Amino acid sequence: MDQSPPDLLRRSQPDFRWDAVPVHPYKEDQVDANGAPVFKTISRQTLFNDPALACDLRYFEMEADGYSTLERHEHAHAVMVFRGHGHCLLGSEIRPIGPHDLISIPAWTWHQFRATAGQSMGFLCMVNRIRDKPQIPTAAELAEIAADPAVARFLTGAPLPASPSVT
Ligand code: MN
Repeated sequence: MDQSPPDLLRRSQPDFRWDAVPVHPYKEDQVDANGAPVFKTISRQTLFNDPALACDLRYFEMEADGYSTLERHEHAHAVMVFRGHGHCLLGSEIRPIGPHDLISIPAWTWHQFRATAGQSMGFLCMVNRIRDKPQIPTAAELAEIAADPAVARFLTGAPLPASPSVT
């Protein structure tokens, strides 16, 4: 009887935080094939990680100019932009994204999120509980991905026009 039951309701807190949900702080010590940090000013909060479910739900948040890891993997993602505007790389395309947009990331699709609109951007990401480890591009793969000028511009972190969607 000493064991307390799990919190079935965890209240939201200011600034996109939640009760009993730790914020995993930025760490930018991993570098890509060009020596650049693989991600920048992004934090992760795991909102749901329940063995009774086959998926986890995480909340990622980037400061302005922050970005997620450019990666691919066998598992898929279901993403909803929660706040702010930015852009995502999805395969070979750069798409402007804004609040409540839904983004499906199929298996083995290169993807990256960037807060390119001069503001913080947060997104929810649903993912299989049991999943493979992401791959980051080799130097050759990175060169291939960046061969498209629009993608190359995105990868430099240049400011880009925000999504036309409202809110
Ligand atoms: Mn991913």
